[in-house]
Amino acid sequence: MALIVQKFGGTSVANADRIRNVARIITDTYKAGNQVVAVLSAQGDTTDDLIEKAAEINPNASKREMDMLLSTGEQISCSLCAMAIEGLGYPAISLTGWQAGMKTNSTYSNARIKRVECERIRNELDRHSIVIVTGFQGINKYDDITTLGRGGSDTSAVALAAGLHADLCQIYTDVDGIYTADPRFVRGARKLEEITFDEMLELASLGAQVLHNRSVEMAKRYNVNLEVISSFSGNPGTKVKEVVKNVEKSHISGVAKDKNIARLALVGLKDEPGIAFKIFSLLARNKINVDIILQSIGRNESKDISFTVGKPDLEEAKRLLEENKEWLSFDHVDVSDRIAKVSIVGAGMMNTPGTAARMFEALFNAGINIHMISTSEIKVSVLVPAEDADRAVQVIHDQFFDEFNS
Ligand code: ASP
Ligand code: MG
Repeated sequence: MALIVQKFGGTSVANADRIRNVARIITDTYKAGNQVVAVLSAQGDTTDDLIEKAAEINPNASKREMDMLLSTGEQISCSLCAMAIEGLGYPAISLTGWQAGMKTNSTYSNARIKRVECERIRNELDRHSIVIVTGFQGINKYDDITTLGRGGSDTSAVALAAGLHADLCQIYTDVDGIYTADPRFVRGARKLEEITFDEMLELASLGAQVLHNRSVEMAKRYNVNLEVISSFSGNPGTKVKEVVKNVEKSHISGVAKDKNIARLALVGLKDEPGIAFKIFSLLARNKINVDIILQSIGRNESKDISFTVGKPDLEEAKRLLEENKEWLSFDHVDVSDRIAKVSIVGAGMMNTPGTAARMFEALFNAGINIHMISTSEIKVSVLVPAEDADRAVQVIHDQFFDEFNS
């Protein structure tokens, strides 16, 4: 007998038929002799609809009240699913975040899970119940409801799997697994059998959007046996784990793009010690996350520093820099939001020389100009013009994966 946590996303529970489908997946797992804890998202667009509803009443509603409201979406899907399971003749009980012992900090609308007190769930499992837990929510030390940030149900599921020492945590979704690139846009994209936690983290933060980033961090930390799988197709999914057997000749697991970034360049900075420190500590103090940084070599005692930020932070970053222009002493700020970041990710590239060169070759052949480059042990990212981003992903993908698609 195994203990399995199964998480179902919003599309998987969007209507009555789909809830019945999910109830069937859960009861099939239960019938096979397993204990099952299911974690559900809100149905379809429920969370977005609730946000709109709030905006009609008060566009500046407090985060505490927003959490009170948004947490209701998951209560609906969970109670309906428990009813569906009862209807199939199996014992089920739905629990809210607080009933399930999800203790979080007090950052409303973006709370972090501090611990999971699993007694109640354990008791229900001992009574042979299937336990359905609301994703995305918990309670803080004031007994207030908190939510974990958009897409947070993945993290709820992994936290429960870690807390319960589950044998497996399956994330059921509307795609078949993790792909080498977004299959909706990239010809020849194919499903990976396995991917490492580190690769998945890079892909998630690069905009692959399959798993909530914090869920992968947590799965890595507690070594949760994680799998991404479709609730519709019945096909095997993708396993996310610490180490994978390297079957890929290409040494690359995926190609991702992120269009939600912007570049700032500080032109004509003094070429002296402490400049980078001043700039980036100013941004850090104002909670602006900086990604790729590029500094030119100094010439005539002046230099330039360019860097990227998330698009939503662009205006704020620009304002801060301009306000501090005297003190930071630069000539002007140059801004571009017509750029995109395209990246290749692969744990195998660590031991494979020439991976970056192959990526650059593909871009050269397609006549795509590279504005900035950054690398880590398992990633190479380039900044390209926004209008070239989709083509860049395709040609890079062809370069590394074509031999497998013929
Ligand atoms: N319902 C929440 C959202 O839409 C949480 C989730 O689906 O994971 O963001
Ligand atoms: Mg999601």
